[in-house]
Parts: sequence; structure tokens; C-alpha cells
Amino acid sequence: MISVAQKRELKQCLSRFFLEDEPLAPRTTFKTGGRASVFLEPETLTDLRLAVKILMEMKLGFLLLGGGSNLLVADAGIRDRAVISLTRSFRDYTIVGSDKNVVMVRVEGGVQLAEFVRLSVISGYSGLENLAGIPGTLGGALAMNAGAFGSTIYDRLAAISLIHNSLLEWRSATELNPGYRDGGLEGQDIVVAAYFLLPRQTPSIIAGKVAEIRNLRRQHLPSGAHAGSVFKNPAGDFAGRLLEEAGCKGMVFGGARVAVEHANVITAGSGSTTQDVVNLMEKMQDRVKVYCGVTLEPEIRVVS
Ligand SMILES: Cc1cc2nc3c(=O)[nH]c(=O)nc-3n(C[C@H](O)[C@H](O)[C@H](O)COP(=O)(O)OP(=O)(O)OC[C@H]3O[C@@H](n4cnc5c(N)ncnc54)[C@H](O)[C@@H]3O)c2cc1C
Repeated sequence: MISVAQKRELKQCLSRFFLEDEPLAPRTTFKTGGRASVFLEPETLTDLRLAVKILMEMKLGFLLLGGGSNLLVADAGIRDRAVISLTRSFRDYTIVGSDKNVVMVRVEGGVQLAEFVRLSVISGYSGLENLAGIPGTLGGALAMNAGAFGSTIYDRLAAISLIHNSLLEWRSATELNPGYRDGGLEGQDIVVAAYFLLPRQTPSIIAGKVAEIRNLRRQHLPSGAHAGSVFKNPAGDFAGRLLEEAGCKGMVFGGARVAVEHANVITAGSGSTTQDVVNLMEKMQDRVKVYCGVTLEPEIRVVS
């Protein structure tokens, strides 16, 4: 628990971007969970580095919150560590180099992935089409190694700049080791910006492909409050297939329900708690384990 004295000190040092007891449910796609005891929205790189330095000196950890589209926040909220969000100020998209075939763009960690895709489409830069429709921020996408239809955010990545132990550092794409739905970032590393090499293409061709992908997604995902796939696909199989065959579609716990459109998605109804979702996840895991002996691993990150 962050003590009253620690909060007072943080408020004094970081007053310009310090919020107290900030509700997190509206900042996640599940719309469940409690408040952040300390919520920091740095406006500049200097602010961000200072915040990390002070938190480190006070021996307090922190959680990066992107678009909250892959997170389940504990009902008791986040009280032992600070929550940092880049979504207010780290939102630049810049062309940093180009030739007749390819451009290099620099995109900041708080940019919405959908905005990155949109700007690239209208500018005629391809390579991101399969990621259209994935919610959240660029920072979250890199942390999760977000992907769809055989592509991931790392496919066109050249480098990232990140805050590591309060210092600004670089990693080229070849130094990073992303795995399946895991960007392979070190514990408290913060993605500040990323550089992508995107081939030029006629905008209407890219737009056509994006429309096709969006359409496919619409057919398979339910509406309502959820965070996409709950479990990772086990090697050589699909979590959704196993969950469906194990009879999970329509299962309910409190206000949480397994979607009838897709057995690997849980929707949280109004009044649902995070604990409802977590309990339902455990029931689903148990069913699949009994059905075929496979232990499904959560893709969604439960944070407290
Ligand atoms: C409707 C829907 C569809 C989805 N479809 C897909 C899909 O097709 N493919 C897919 O891969 N995912 C999908 N997802 C899940 C989710 O959108 C992705 O994982 C997304 O990339 C998460 O980004 P975010 O900004 O919301 O991250 P958050 O949920 O906020 O955080 C996720 C993780 O990233 C970390 N993080 C966030 N920002 C940073 C940063 N700047 N630096 C370091 N770490 C950071 C957080 O600490 C956390 O560990 C879907 C979700 C929804 C709701």
C-alpha cells in the first residue's frame, strides 16, 4: 500500500501530472475494477523520467496503462504501485525518413494503434493492414506483441526508444525477443516511441485490405465490454475451438458471460466485477482441462 506520506511526497514532486484515487474502470475495455491510488499522466519525457526516478528512489513500482484493452484491474484497485499513462501527451506520428519505396515513421507510445493504421492508410504506407481493428495504444501493442491474421506489430518494427531505469535507451528490433503475445520487454521498461519501416503502396489498395480485415473481425467478435481473446492459443491449436468443444459458450459467473459468438471472449455486463471475470476464466480453464487435459494460459493480464 502506498502510504499517505509517500502520496504526499509524490504529489509535491509531481504535482502537474499527479492524480489521486483515479477510477480505472472507464480506462479499460472491460469497464471493471477499482481505482489507482496514484495515477500519473506525464506531459513530457522529462516528466516521465522524473516520475520513474522518484518512484525508484521511493522503492515503489508502477504499472503502465495503455488503452486498457488487455487488462483486468482488480476490484480493490491498484494501491501498492503507481499507474502511469502516456495516452494524453505521447501522441506524435512523424515521418523521419523516406525514399521512393519505403518510409520510416516514428510513432509515440500513447498513439492509438487504430490511429497509426488510419494515418498510414491515408498516407499510402502499407504493412499494418492486418492489425486494423485491434484496440489500444502502440505501447500496449508492443508490450503484448499484438497481432492478427498472421501479422504482428513487430513485423515492420525497426527500433524502439524506451525508458529503462529512468534513462532513455534504444533497442533495435534485432535486440528484442518478442514471443507469442509477449513483447519480451524487461519488467519496468516503458515504450516511449517506436520506429517502423513501411513500404509505399497506393492508398486505395491499402484501404481495401483494411476494410476486408475490419469486416472479418466484425463477424467474429461480440459487442459489449470485453478484452478480445481471454486465453492464448496452445501450440498447434486454437483456444476458441477447445473452449467451444468443452461447452463453454454461454457460461456465466455473476455479471460475466462467455460470448456465444466466440468461446474465447468474455463479456462483462453492467454490474460485473473483475472477480466475476476471473472466476469465469477459472471455470473455463477447468472445463478445458477436464475435456482434453490442456491448461489454457491467460492472454489477458490481471493487475493489482
Ligand atoms: C475488441 C478487442 C479486440 C482485440 N483483438 C486483438 C487481436 O486481434 N490481437 C491482439 O493481439 N490483441 C487483441 N486485443 C487485445 C488488446 O487490444 C491488445 O493486447 C492491445 O495491444 C493492448 O494494448 P493497450 O494499449 O490496450 O494495452 P493495455 O491493455 O493497457 O496493457 C497491456 C500491457 O501492455 C503494457 N503497456 C501498455 N503501454 C505500455 C508502454 N507504453 N510501455 C510498456 N508497456 C506498456 C501494460 O503494462 C500491460 O502489461 C483485442 C482487444 C479487444 C478489446
